[in-house]
Amino acid sequence: MKKLTVTLTFVLYCITSLFATDTIYVKINLKKLVDKKLKIEVNNNKETSGHYYFPKSIYGTYNHQNAGSKCNSFRTSKGVDIIKEDINSVKIPQCTSFEYYSNFNKWDYLSPEGSVAIKDSVFVFNWYSIIGYFNNTDKTPYSIEIIKPECLKPYSTLEHKEANDSTLTLYASNYDELIDKPLMMFKSGVKTKQFTCNSKTFNIVSFSSTDENPVDSIYNDLKRTVEIATKYLRYPNKEYTFFIYATKNKTTHSALEHKDNSVNTINMNRMFTQTYSILYSMMIHEFIHACYLPLVVRSNVIENFDYQNPKCDEHLWLYEGVTEYLTQKVKYTSGYYTKSEFIKEMYNKYAEDKMNKRNFIRLRNASLTKLSKDIYSWYGRRNYGTVYNRGALVAMMLDIEIIKSSNGEKNLFDIVEILRDRYTHKSFDSKDIINEINSIVNVERIISRYIRGRKNINPKYIFGVLGYNVLNKKEEKSYYYVKIKSVKYIKTKYGNGMVISKSDINKAFGKKELTILKINNKANPTLEDIHISASKMNLTILRNGKIESITFNKLLRRTKSKHVKILKNSNNKNDMVANRFWGQTL
Ligand SMILES: [Zn+2]
Repeated sequence: MKKLTVTLTFVLYCITSLFATDTIYVKINLKKLVDKKLKIEVNNNKETSGHYYFPKSIYGTYNHQNAGSKCNSFRTSKGVDIIKEDINSVKIPQCTSFEYYSNFNKWDYLSPEGSVAIKDSVFVFNWYSIIGYFNNTDKTPYSIEIIKPECLKPYSTLEHKEANDSTLTLYASNYDELIDKPLMMFKSGVKTKQFTCNSKTFNIVSFSSTDENPVDSIYNDLKRTVEIATKYLRYPNKEYTFFIYATKNKTTHSALEHKDNSVNTINMNRMFTQTYSILYSMMIHEFIHACYLPLVVRSNVIENFDYQNPKCDEHLWLYEGVTEYLTQKVKYTSGYYTKSEFIKEMYNKYAEDKMNKRNFIRLRNASLTKLSKDIYSWYGRRNYGTVYNRGALVAMMLDIEIIKSSNGEKNLFDIVEILRDRYTHKSFDSKDIINEINSIVNVERIISRYIRGRKNINPKYIFGVLGYNVLNKKEEKSYYYVKIKSVKYIKTKYGNGMVISKSDINKAFGKKELTILKINNKANPTLEDIHISASKMNLTILRNGKIESITFNKLLRRTKSKHVKILKNSNNKNDMVANRFWGQTL
């Protein structure tokens, strides 16, 4: 085996015996990428027929990807065309091998579950989007041969070997494992780091298409937090890899958990603030998934995830809400957050949840269990943030309630640990888990009111218990009004920065789509150029096929008063619950 990188070396064992029978062989030649389309050759090594499927969704995303929509032009290796049955399924006639094209144009930016193909430079394969399966309940292994330009360095937690600089072979023991371990290949722009703590090795593979690589900014905080957290978090594997993919394109701040790795994508555009603290939080969150919920402790529904008819059970609040809450607790216990920063973060979740509740009327009828179960529905998708925000707040309430009813003997993390002991080697029954938690420690009040019920969360109570008062305060807020061509006034989106967004401009000119060609005569303007400090800004725009010039004049400033809630440390410091809460390791 050729030495890979310092970050990803491991022992290959028993490959010949593992892959001797019934292996699906896949061949991909990256040198033949044309128009962002790659030929995928699949060989069963025996004459067979059957359905070949792509997932409608993969677990962890709770969204429909319809991976099959990115794969087309199927035919047998003898040249017989194969017609697709529907988006995600293809009926393969009797043959030994067949081929098709994966179209990377369909991924216009990288999300953590997406894939990228940029000739001779960057390839990211989330395998489910390019390789299908015959039957996801069986355990057929995969062997994938990749012919690649020599300059590309591969990174994956899948077992792999390089026969030479241009031939890479990867092995997966089944489809579940394949889609859990993406492959990334880069020519340049990558920084790798590695550290070891508590006998576990942590790798960071950080790609950036910009001058800045985020690993330089987050490495120390991440390392210190993981070092402290792994003293009590039980990560089951020997090695874990954080993948970071940073660009200035449309990429969102987002991440996806896997059993021994996570993919974290961030947008480096300066319009976004707090990029690094968001990245750091996402990385901790995904790592906690790999220690507990739902990658170790999960229900039968998630364990036997149906890629064709994806469903979630009633416990997405448990998988995401509890994980998000533990993330904030880890940030506090590792010293990244002070007490008041922790409280502020949790209060922000409360405020965001309250705002969502106002915006989405249908949500008022959904308890956390109902929303979890309906997450693939129209209203579920629109209220996705609720499982994180309200889910994390309810997890905090559970933590407080458990400390209270066990007289300080237990907390939420102890319960998660008990569930881990019980369900590491088997999945739990979706119907029983809430009752089971309730039988370990009585939290019926929280379950019936806030998990199965729809009672509003009282911030004065939950923050008050921890020694923080919620106070109302009047705050003045300023807005700029901009006059355009002496015709219309528009209110800018952000009060203080004097930012005019494209949607502001669209608002002023009707909803017609327009392109900004120049700002103050500067061609190819970036988002930063839209910030204006002067009293005038000239835009050259393309609208309805015509080039027009418009001028923005800063006109006046109005202030509006608004009630805000702030949190203040109270003197309630001798309370048992608060002492236990702030004093515990998690
Ligand atoms: Zn998550």
